[in-house]
Amino acid sequence: MIYLDSTATTQMSKKALDVYEKYAYDFFYNPSAEYASSVNVAKDIQNAREYVLKKLGAKIGSVIFTSGATESNNLAIRGSFREGNWEYVFSEGEHSSVYNTAKALKNEGKTVKFVPLDKFGEVDYDALKNLVNERTRLVSLIYVSNETGAINDIEKAIKIIKTKNKRTLIHIDGVQAFNKIPLSLANLDVDFFSFSSHKFHGPKGVGGLYVKNIEGLKSIVFGGGQEFNKRSGTENVAGIMSTVEAIKEIDIEKNLEKVRSLKEKFLKFYLDKNDVQLFETKRSSPYILSLSYKGVNGETLMRALEGEIIVGTGSACGSRTAGNRVLQAIGLDKDRVKSSIRVSFDPSLMLKDVEYASKMIYEVYTNIYNKVK
Ligand code: PMP
Repeated sequence: MIYLDSTATTQMSKKALDVYEKYAYDFFYNPSAEYASSVNVAKDIQNAREYVLKKLGAKIGSVIFTSGATESNNLAIRGSFREGNWEYVFSEGEHSSVYNTAKALKNEGKTVKFVPLDKFGEVDYDALKNLVNERTRLVSLIYVSNETGAINDIEKAIKIIKTKNKRTLIHIDGVQAFNKIPLSLANLDVDFFSFSSHKFHGPKGVGGLYVKNIEGLKSIVFGGGQEFNKRSGTENVAGIMSTVEAIKEIDIEKNLEKVRSLKEKFLKFYLDKNDVQLFETKRSSPYILSLSYKGVNGETLMRALEGEIIVGTGSACGSRTAGNRVLQAIGLDKDRVKSSIRVSFDPSLMLKDVEYASKMIYEVYTNIYNKVK
């Protein structure tokens, strides 16, 4: 089986799994209790928090561990809410965990604005400039699109936002960026940054939210006061500790080199194939490729490949809803949206497997095309 859907999730690494087991079994104590075994676990979590902060490059602020980026995104958006005549700005390219929270805010009567995307899948920076004003409470932007791999120029976006309103809070959904492309919060003046462990060979159901000013964040879950009293609930100790282990194994530059060569190898085969359209980006994550096979439904192709090759048809979280909202927002025509698939590259893949997959997908596509034609 050749797994080309690591944007949706990754397999947990063996080392991370060992650490998971250690903390789920041997060190199972509740970090809030007062006996030594518990205090030690609480210390381990504190060290994990500092480790993640360091990896994010943050000089100030804290990390709140959550059940994953969906919760992190909800917490950043809802937790920064204040009474008053505030406005919220989101991009059309957000993951459903941000987009549907934005829609919920709108239904609750808040002023919510959406920044359109340009044809390369990036935020339209001029539109962003026009949408931010003195009432803008929060702008939430995705770093790397989980649909197209397009990388937003976050530094540029921050400059635009801060020039219009110094006090506007900025949230970045960094799920497809953290531990994948080089980034440092020391150079990005953001208030919130979400990440998710299962995207980098950590466990599912664990993630975090970087918060610059923890005092300013409102809680959306109330209880025992864990995580700075911002996210109550007994900590997912095994999840948090294995997240750290997964990060320790990552060499961002080395991985980038590998996935670049994988993507290149995959693309090489398509150079002369006119019936396959590649989604064109200005700045693209080498981990993600969006492409469409003319005249064949992406889902049909995905199912025909199943058993041998696994590809995605876009965000796993959004696959239950019709069409692909983000590709539509970019302005791709209906047929192209329908015939799109997403191929993801993970550093663990072998060059020869990716080469084989590129050919095999085309062969299966041609067979289906000739049948339905
Ligand atoms: N944001 C992005 C960009 C994602 O790709 C995902 C996962 N598909 C999420 C948020 C949600 O993360 P989680 O699965 O941890 O809730």
